[in-house]
Amino acid sequence: MPDGKTHNKINIIILFLILIGLHSPLCSKTLPLEYLSPGSIALFAFSFLVGTYYLSPDLDIKSDPFKRWGPFRYIWWPYQKLFGHRGMLHNPILGPLIIILTVGLVFVAPVVLALDLSAKEVPQEYLISLFAGIVFSIEIHIVADALSTKKKRTATKIKKKLKGTNKKK
Ligand SMILES: [Zn+2]
Repeated sequence: MPDGKTHNKINIIILFLILIGLHSPLCSKTLPLEYLSPGSIALFAFSFLVGTYYLSPDLDIKSDPFKRWGPFRYIWWPYQKLFGHRGMLHNPILGPLIIILTVGLVFVAPVVLALDLSAKEVPQEYLISLFAGIVFSIEIHIVADALSTKKKRTATKIKKKLKGTNKKK
């Protein structure tokens, strides 16, 4: 699997490409205009970066994203014990769901309740951009892991085959 720094690089390059893509005629024709506002795009980029550095599926090991949580890192510890590396947190559907729900229940919900905030006051496009940023950052990580495993497997297969043909000679 790519290491943490490689994951960060891949995510940032893809974020850059997405941000360029959002200015393309295809996006301006297909996406509702409110999602292309500077506010929505900034929120998307922000949550994508937070996702990359703090909400990586590699929270299932003692990774850099895990350590960045400081004293709060222990909220992820049960998942390391329960799922192990590349378990549930690396599942394309359950991974983002579990990660977002955990942050939502442990950090967001208490603040929302304490300050009596309402999601209705936040424009819908901001909420969706925020979630999209996090989900994209997690999915790109999962795809990068899957692709690198596939590459490694093919490389080992080729090596084995080469060894086999060498022996025959
Ligand atoms: Zn991973």
